[in-house]
Order: sequence, then structure tokens, then C-alpha cells
Amino acid sequence: MSDSIHPSDSASVSFGFKTVPEDERQSLVNRIFSDVAGRYDLMNDLMSGGLHRLWKDDVISWLSPPKTEQDFRLLDVAGGTGDLTERFLRAGGTGCKATLFDINPEMVAVAEKRLQTAGLSDRVSCIVGNAEILPFPDKSFDAYTVGFGIRNVTHIDRALKEAYRVLKTGGRFLCIEFSRCEVPLLDRVYDFHSFEVIPRIGQLTTGNADAYHYLVESIRKFPKQEDFAELIRGAGFGRVTYRNLTGGIAAIHSAWRT
Ligand code: SAM
Repeated sequence: MSDSIHPSDSASVSFGFKTVPEDERQSLVNRIFSDVAGRYDLMNDLMSGGLHRLWKDDVISWLSPPKTEQDFRLLDVAGGTGDLTERFLRAGGTGCKATLFDINPEMVAVAEKRLQTAGLSDRVSCIVGNAEILPFPDKSFDAYTVGFGIRNVTHIDRALKEAYRVLKTGGRFLCIEFSRCEVPLLDRVYDFHSFEVIPRIGQLTTGNADAYHYLVESIRKFPKQEDFAELIRGAGFGRVTYRNLTGGIAAIHSAWRT
């Protein structure tokens, strides 16, 4: 298999529906998140009608962090403004510690402020870096989450191998990502919402419709549920399963380092 799920030839990859040089893709992604960081949370609520909150609750309830003082370390990759990290720390006991890891300093700055306001800073560290090269030792985390982030990574297979490497034996991988709607009619409503409504909301609230064209297009380029499960198996994980959310508009993939 190619190194990237976005290839069109050896030196160019997909960026939404466009093709761009492979070594430029990440900086294009970074520019989008730098542009929207300050309004990212508001946009998520407007675009999904608040649904993303319930989906993220599902991720953390599936993870089921221990409610005790027992040491349990989460790495939240592409953690953005901290939605999953905050939910994890609130759901778990005092032994639960998180590392929020994201390539974009502007997104991380919003997360730091939010986690501080929530009084959770003492159990979290925020680090800027690329999911493809994690600066952590082998087998150092009990769980790895990635929320609506893996789609933005240029070499998804490298990020998955890194996830496997840093998880302890018996560690848990959970990924929530937009996926393939499998309910007739709902898929048409979803298409209309994606291509007609979302970019307009994006333009009105952030002045950046392009960012939201990219969002919608990159979702369509992302592998469907079973194909993504296969990529996760390819990184070495076992017991790979997934749950559809809202008819498959999003899906949570779960796997274990066995
Ligand atoms: N996890 C958060 C959530 O669920 O709301 C944020 C998701 S946001 C759609 C995608 C995030 O992925 C952005 O914060 C972006 O900076 C980050 N990202 C993109 N490419 C990345 C990479 N190669 N490594 C780490 N983070 C990356």
C-alpha cells in the first residue's frame, strides 16, 4: 500500500478535492486551523447543531476512564481546542492524566486557556507536534484518542504506527472521524447540508468558506468504515471494531495494542 491514503502520484496528494504537492499539504491544513482557531468551537456547534458534543461524550464513555487514583495516561492527538481531553479528565478520577498533542499552536493556545479555566491544568500537558512523529517513548500511554484529526494528517499509516508504538501492551486506541452515511435519504440531507449549508455558515462566522469546503471535501475522501478498520489492523492493532453514529455520518473506531 502507498504511504498515504491521499496519493494521486508519488509527489502529490489530495487536499479535499484538489491535488497538491505532498510536502505542502500539512502547511495548507495548518493555515486553515490557524485561521479558524478562535471560532472553532462555535463553528462546531453551529455546523453540527451541537451533535458533536454527544458524539464526543460517546468516545469517552466507550473509553471508560478509571474513576480512581490509579495512574492512567491518555494521549489526545490532534486534540485541537481540548474537547476530548476535557471530557476525559472530567470523567476520570484523579489518577487520569492527559497529554494534548496538536500540530497547530493557535489551536493548542485555545485548549490551554480552556483547560485552565476549567481548573484541570494540573492533570494535563499540552504539546505542539506532528502525529506522524510522536516525541514519546515506546509503550508510554494507556490510551490514545484522535478526534476528527486523522483525516488531516498527510500519512495516516505513519500516524497509526506511531499510535501503536506509544501505547502500552493492552492500551486502547479510539478514533472518532466523519465517515460514510449508510442511511438512505439521510445521506441526501447530509450532502445538502455539507456542500450548501456548511461553507455558508463558515463564510458568515469565520469569513473563510474555503476552510469549510476543505472540511467537507476531506470527509468525502476519507476511507469508509471497513477500509479504515483495515488501515488500523495494518498498523498492528488487534480487536478492531467500530460504531456508527447518526447513521454513519461519524464513526468511532476502537482497537487495542495486544
Ligand atoms: N480533536 C479536536 C476536536 O475533536 O474538536 C480538534 C479536531 S480539528 C478538526 C483537527 C485538528 O487536527 C486541528 O487542531 C489540527 O491542528 C490537527 N492536526 C492536523 N494535522 C495534524 C498532524 N499532522 N499532527 C497533529 N495534529 C494535527
